[in-house]
Amino acid sequence: MKIAILGAAGRMGQFLLSTAAKTEGCEVVAAVERPDHPLLGTAVAVPGVPAGLTYSSQWPAAAEVVIDFTFHSCVPNNLSNAAANGQGYVLGTTGLTPEEQEAVHAAANTIPVIWAPNMSLGVNLLLELVRRSAEILGPEYDIEIVETHHRLKKDAPSGTAIGLAQAAAAGRKVSLDDVACYGRQGIVGERPSGEIGIHALRGGSVVGDHTVHFIADEERIEITHKASSREVFAKGAIRGALWVGGKQPGIYTMRHVLGFE
Ligand code: NAD
Repeated sequence: MKIAILGAAGRMGQFLLSTAAKTEGCEVVAAVERPDHPLLGTAVAVPGVPAGLTYSSQWPAAAEVVIDFTFHSCVPNNLSNAAANGQGYVLGTTGLTPEEQEAVHAAANTIPVIWAPNMSLGVNLLLELVRRSAEILGPEYDIEIVETHHRLKKDAPSGTAIGLAQAAAAGRKVSLDDVACYGRQGIVGERPSGEIGIHALRGGSVVGDHTVHFIADEERIEITHKASSREVFAKGAIRGALWVGGKQPGIYTMRHVLGFE
């Protein structure tokens, strides 16, 4: 599969280049950057990437699939270029405005687009395991979610923890808004049946840990995911790129890539 990385000199772009270079069946044909990037025209110094590949701001027409980890405001233009060239699209860039999200839907009428705010295969598997576990175990198993992140993280709880809580609520066929409990303090009373607790720990340089507890009177089940490198997102994106090439137009998620739908 011939792929191009958009945002190639960025933090994710560098992981995407090195991961693609190590992946069988994946050929990097372009490393695309914004028109004023200082590395334009210089060689891509990432081990395994073909010699002669340089950073370019040209649209990579030779690619079958483009992987976008850039900036939200340039996504609509990238999408229309990909649609004009009939290329598969892996969209990792986050923070899209409602108008930019509309552009994703419009492009998906013409090309296949994988759209996933967290491309870690492990997290996407965890979401599925949590949904199914909540469905099977029922409300006598109290659900508590605990996430741990580095001390510099600004938001809490993490988007992934909220996603896990939504998956648990979906498994129980309830709305998370009706059952969520974000931390406890003071005389909170007995735990209501069906509540889903969500708690955030902060410290050190932890990349991101999430544990979902299912707690019954006689037994406890704990499902944990621990991320130790941004490479997990790159691996998910490359797997998505290999999957999306040649698919019908439409919007896909990592659930499709993993075969859950
Ligand atoms: P970054 O700032 O390090 O890299 C972005 C790169 O895109 C920069 O090198 C920038 O020059 C380049 N760029 C900007 N405009 C461009 C354009 N028009 N054409 C080509 N390149 C352009 O950021 P990052 O940490 O690599 O993250 C990039 C995006 O990916 C963010 O939106 C981030 O939230 C998202 N992200 C998603 C996942 C996921 O799993 N979906 C994981 C990590 C990060």
